[in-house]
Amino acid sequence: MIVCKFGGTSVADAAAIERLVRIVAARAAERPLVVVSALAGVTDGLLRLAMTVHQGDEKALGADIEALLLRHETVALELPGAEAGVDAIRLEATALHSTLVAALGRRLRPAELDEVAGHGELWSSRLVAGAMANAGLPAAWTDIRPIMVTDDRFGRATPYVQVVNNRARECLKPLLEGDLIPVTQGFIGATADGVPTTFGRGGSDFSAALLGAALGAERVEIWTDVDGLMTADPRIVPSARTLAAASYEEAAELATFGAKVLHPATAMPLVRAGIPIVVLNSTRPELPGTTIEPAAELERIGDSPIRSISWKRGITVINVRAPRMLGAYGFLRTMFEVFERHEVVVDVLASGEISVSLTVEDPARLEPVVRELGELGEVWTEDRRAIVAVVGIGLRRTPGLASRIFGAVQPANVEVISQGASAINMTFVVREEDGPDVVRRLHAEFFGAA
Ligand code: ASP
Ligand code: MG
Repeated sequence: MIVCKFGGTSVADAAAIERLVRIVAARAAERPLVVVSALAGVTDGLLRLAMTVHQGDEKALGADIEALLLRHETVALELPGAEAGVDAIRLEATALHSTLVAALGRRLRPAELDEVAGHGELWSSRLVAGAMANAGLPAAWTDIRPIMVTDDRFGRATPYVQVVNNRARECLKPLLEGDLIPVTQGFIGATADGVPTTFGRGGSDFSAALLGAALGAERVEIWTDVDGLMTADPRIVPSARTLAAASYEEAAELATFGAKVLHPATAMPLVRAGIPIVVLNSTRPELPGTTIEPAAELERIGDSPIRSISWKRGITVINVRAPRMLGAYGFLRTMFEVFERHEVVVDVLASGEISVSLTVEDPARLEPVVRELGELGEVWTEDRRAIVAVVGIGLRRTPGLASRIFGAVQPANVEVISQGASAINMTFVVREEDGPDVVRRLHAEFFGAA
C-alpha cells in the first residue's frame, strides 16, 4: 500500500480536489490511503474564531463560521459528488457555533482550541471522499481520531506509537484489503478518552508518516504546491532547482530551518522501516518530485558542496554571559534545565569559554526563561533575527567552505554560528531583514547567478 497526503493547497478548491481524484485514481492499483489537510487557509480561519470568541463579538463569530461553511458549500457546488459531505459539515458547524457562543468573552483552553482547529480536516476529508466516490473510486471516509491516539499535550500532542500501530492495523488494514480507499484526516488525533488533539501546525505530514509506518507502506507521498525540496525557496530565488533525492537527515534539517515543504518530524516514524517519502507537486503531477530515503544518491549540483539553503524568520537570540562558567562543569546543564522546565525548544547553539548564545522560535514563554537565566549570569536577547541554514554533503570536510559562505553573506552581520556534528549543515543568525538577500547571495555563490 501507499500513503498519499494532500496539503491545504492541494485541496484548496474544486479544481484542486479534481486533480487529487485523478492522482489517486492513477494509483488505485497500489492500494492508496488518502490523508488530507484542511482546505488552504481554513485552519487559520478556525484559529481566528478563538480570538473573536475572546473579544466576545457574537455577531462576528456567527459571520465567521458562516463564511467557513460557505467556503465548503461552494466547493461542494462546483465539485460533483462532494455535496454528499455537506450535511455533516453543516451539522458540525452548527454544533461548533453553539459551543463557541457558550464560551464568548473568555479565552479558549488549549483543549478547546484543538477541538476547534481540527474541524478543517474533518470537513475537507468529507468533500474529498464524496468527490472520489463520484468518480467511481471506492472511498471510505474514516475518522482518524480513535486510531491516532495521543497524549494530552494539546496543540503539540505526541502519538502513542504502539497504540496507533495496532489501531491502524485493526481499523485501516481491513479496508485496504477490501479494496477500499480510506480517506482520512491529517493533523488531528485524540487522547485515549477521546478528547480531540492536534500535532501542531503543519502536522498532517507527520500523520501520514505515522500511518505509513504503521501499515508498512511502500512509500509516503506528500502532495504539495512546489516541485519538491529545492536548493532555496523559489519565491526568494526564482532560479532555485529541485533536488531529485535527499536523505532523511537533510530533509529534517531543511524542514527545521524554514523550508516549509515538510513538517520536521515527518521522517521520524519512517526511518526505522526505511520507507521513502516522495514530495510532489499536485498541480504538476508528471514531475518526479524529490525522493527522500536512507540510501539516497545525493547528486552534487554542479560542483557545489552545498545542496540547499533555507532560512527561518521570527527568531530570538538569547545570550548568556557568565564568567563563572570558566572551568566549571554542570553549567550548561543548569542552563538547559531552565529551558526544559518551561518547555522552550532551542534550535541553534553556540558556546564559548564564558558565554553561550542560542536561538528560540517561540517568543511566548520566553519571559520566565530569561528571568531564571538571569540568576546564572548576564542575559540579553535580540529579536527579529533569522536563522540561515546551509545544508550540503560533507561540509566539515570541505576546506575553505566557511570563508566562501561568510564571504557571500557580507555585508550582512553574522551573529551565532554553529556547525552540527552531522557534517551536513552550517547555521548562523542574521537580522531578519537581511535574510532574503543573504539567501540570494549564497545561492548565487554556490549555484550560479539567478
Ligand atoms: N491544517 C493544518 C495546518 O494548517 C495541518 C496541516 O496542514 O498540515 O497547520
Ligand atoms: Mg504542510
